[in-house]
Amino acid sequence: MATVYDSTDKSEKGPENGGIERPRHPEKAANPDSPLLRKPKWIRVKAPGSAIYKETREIVKANNLPTVCEEAACPNIGECWDKRHATMMIMGEICTRACAFCNVTTGLPNALNEAEPENVANAVAQLGLEHVVITSVDRDDLDDGGAAHFARVIRAIRARSPETSIEVLTPDFLRKDGALEVVIEAGPDVFNHNLETVPSLYLRVRPGARYFHSLRLLQQAKEINPAQFTKSGIMVGLGETRDEILQMMDDLRSADVDFLTIGQYLQPTRKHSPVDRYVTPEDFANYETIARSKGFLLVSATPLTRSSYHAGDDFAALRRAREASLKKTL
Ligand code: SF4
Repeated sequence: MATVYDSTDKSEKGPENGGIERPRHPEKAANPDSPLLRKPKWIRVKAPGSAIYKETREIVKANNLPTVCEEAACPNIGECWDKRHATMMIMGEICTRACAFCNVTTGLPNALNEAEPENVANAVAQLGLEHVVITSVDRDDLDDGGAAHFARVIRAIRARSPETSIEVLTPDFLRKDGALEVVIEAGPDVFNHNLETVPSLYLRVRPGARYFHSLRLLQQAKEINPAQFTKSGIMVGLGETRDEILQMMDDLRSADVDFLTIGQYLQPTRKHSPVDRYVTPEDFANYETIARSKGFLLVSATPLTRSSYHAGDDFAALRRAREASLKKTL
């Protein structure tokens, strides 16, 4: 299950050490507590704690790497880490945005860790990953939004594990001209940027971002490298309508996006955006059918779908789907 808790920032000096307890999300502190909807029976997951799970945790800790699996309190951590599939979160644990759905700590980030590209490459090699997903916090404070750091991480993994396919799930690089080019030129196998939600909810849910900028970013990734696999995802259960989801699918197809993920939003704490509804597995299956009919090469739409969930298997399926589609056009 997703852990629902009000946690405090581990990166700061806590009261036990004579410091002041700092909330993870100071900007949300004044929000009213929203009621927690009881989770339906289909949101049931494997409890973490197997021997391989513990090994995975030791490897990421030994390399000083935060993971989005932990920071976002992902419900799939027991299953994913049992297969060593950890998604590393680079550029620190503190995000400069303040999205209403996200459990990552917000505030002023620390300086980049120059050793991080090598640390990530070490962890990928030690975990023996065939496919790795690298994501990051938003770094609006950096001139390039962290694009060069992403590129260094991609190159360090390639040098150390040339057989590993690399997927990057990046921020939107809003107002960072030239940043996307730097990431794409480093040659990730999959470029992923999540729209997260439909445009009508952006001001409430993703206030620091712009829907059409995110869409354009995905389109530009394909324009820079027409062979680039592109991927995007949204959460449902934030208050969007079915028509808005279908429109968003059309928008993504107009941007030539290959792979769409749709998963259930789970509320990290009472201060976050409330869950509006739990979408049934049948409705997810229906969204998947519709999305496939709109021309996506691949669609993953289930309650527990997340950007990085089963990403390795999905990448293999994505490649097969492109080959099959190319054969049809010959
Ligand atoms: S779905 Fe992604 S974020 Fe969640 S545990 Fe798996 S790899 Fe980590």
